[in-house]
Amino acid sequence: MSGYRGRFAPSPTGLLHAGSLVAALASWLDARAHSGVWLVRIEDVDLPRCLPGAADQILRQLATCGLVSDEPVLRQSDRGAAYQAALDRLIEKRWAYPCGCTRKDIAQALLESGAQRERHEELVYPGRCRPANGGLQGRLARAWRLDIAALSADLGLPATLHWSDRRLGAQQQEVGTQVGDFVLKRADGLWAYQLAVVVDDAEQGITDIVRGQDLADNSARQILLQQALGYPRPRYLHTPLVCGANGEKLSKQNGAAALDLSDPLAALNAAAQRLGLPPQADNLADALAGWTRAWANLYNPAP
Ligand code: GLU
Repeated sequence: MSGYRGRFAPSPTGLLHAGSLVAALASWLDARAHSGVWLVRIEDVDLPRCLPGAADQILRQLATCGLVSDEPVLRQSDRGAAYQAALDRLIEKRWAYPCGCTRKDIAQALLESGAQRERHEELVYPGRCRPANGGLQGRLARAWRLDIAALSADLGLPATLHWSDRRLGAQQQEVGTQVGDFVLKRADGLWAYQLAVVVDDAEQGITDIVRGQDLADNSARQILLQQALGYPRPRYLHTPLVCGANGEKLSKQNGAAALDLSDPLAALNAAAQRLGLPPQADNLADALAGWTRAWANLYNPAP
């Protein structure tokens, strides 16, 4: 057994679609090609957006495709204490601060400073409640944010973070200016995806993150949090997305149809094709074994 540990981490806000199967298959193949462990983690941290019963259905969909977690499935809804402990550590270091701004406040502050900046419809937080800017100043605490300037100063981190993606190559992002002090705990009391995913990946000993390219942009934020919490940095590989007939990437948000698993081998062949793997006509087990060999040649030639 190698030290490799990978995972597939679906959010049960809907069932698996053709795009999510590509990420699931890629993470499974990468784990098998490394003789490693493959885990499924249910990311139901945003419970109000989760669909009742979807988590179990996703696990059944995966099992129909021959993809079964090697260890018990972790559910983020059970993990609040671990996330709180991580936030407490950041607060203690003064790398996290309470924020009293509403979305409207943030938009207003950006407008006034003439620096209206938006990324993927997210406003870049201008730092109004950052301790260095005077903190809450009587405003009611709503959310918790990472203090990127304080963290970077204390750890001597460069403004631009560089990392490498096994498929996309050299990557870089200046999180402080391109994203801003991002949220760790939301105003509605829910844990932010960034904090939850970093804590769970570290506690589950994940060495390799293989997931859809739509999530690639989160990597820098997650690496920064790993540095803040003293966690090792996993390797990253972001897989190609699947587009629908309208040319848009398939996602639950734009109503992608649930996978048709009446013929799991056909569904897997479509996912494999997207990954640049050859078609397999055998039974499920032999097809998966064939793709594992092909994957090893494509993405990680034997050391
Ligand atoms: N739960 C996330 C999603 O379904 C994936 C998280 C990850 O792989 O880092 O989009």
